Amino acid sequence: MPQLDQVVRDIADEMAQRTDRGEVATYIPELARADTKAFGLVVIDAEGNIAAGGDSEIPFSIQSISKVFTLTLALGKAGDRLWKRVGREPSGSAFNSVVQLEYERGVPRNPFINAGAIAVTDLIVSGYQPREALAEILRFLRFLADDPSITVDEAVAASEARTGFRNIALANYMKAYGVLENPVDFTLGVYFHHCAIAMSCRQLAAAGRFLAYQGRNPVTGLSVVPPERARRINAIMLTCGHYDGSGEFAYRVGLPGKSGVGGGILAIAPGKASIAVWSPGLDASGNSRLGRIALEELTKRLGWSIFGA
Ligand code: GLN
Repeated sequence: MPQLDQVVRDIADEMAQRTDRGEVATYIPELARADTKAFGLVVIDAEGNIAAGGDSEIPFSIQSISKVFTLTLALGKAGDRLWKRVGREPSGSAFNSVVQLEYERGVPRNPFINAGAIAVTDLIVSGYQPREALAEILRFLRFLADDPSITVDEAVAASEARTGFRNIALANYMKAYGVLENPVDFTLGVYFHHCAIAMSCRQLAAAGRFLAYQGRNPVTGLSVVPPERARRINAIMLTCGHYDGSGEFAYRVGLPGKSGVGGGILAIAPGKASIAVWSPGLDASGNSRLGRIALEELTKRLGWSIFGA
């Protein structure tokens, strides 16, 4: 697909020139070491063609992008019962907001803000040892990306466990309301570790394919989730995937997307492509600055916004 290849390469070149690269996250000390000059972009289409630009093979901390995959697993385990523990409305507040959780009596607004993702992780942990629950998440990602080399960056996990006081507060608050079933340290241990999974843009775009093609890998034909579930996960990505920057992301990019504070974004062009971008510098909402700009350029040039040209 020459045109797509060219567009991806052009955007990677343009992003390499930019000086307005945002700020790396520092509240997880290990993430502060990321190189703001890094930029990667990978697009995988329905035929399995891969268009790659920049640092497309360098693993980075996927952080909150992991929440798309834990949500998928938790829905597989609990189905609609999940929605008793977590809502599905955009938050309009920061990803680690404490005040919103208090207003809503311990039931998080959606599965992508930290509190909601911790509640989702708790559901995956139930009935298992934390180690088994983490292994299940990792197995799922390796299966989706068809890559057994994907692993947890233990230094990032340890760094967040040492400094994750806000998440500890959120989890304890939910525990007080009976929203978490398991010991808080079990659930948080798994949460910190799945956030610390490291993947390259190529691996991440591969893992996201099922969301672009009605729940199936279009090349192998293997079904991951029913079409209706893929559609709904995309809907939540569109409305909640960028926290209080979700409206702006929909306005500028026009695709379901999920960001992480490691600077990655997974974006889904339904029926067309799975896209992963990475640039560690963040904007004020904690979303990759150049990642968003690159996706805006991509959807503009290819006419891929779900809202039309
Ligand atoms: N692990 C991070 C946290 O809990 C994830 C946040 C994010 O990527 N937005 O704070």
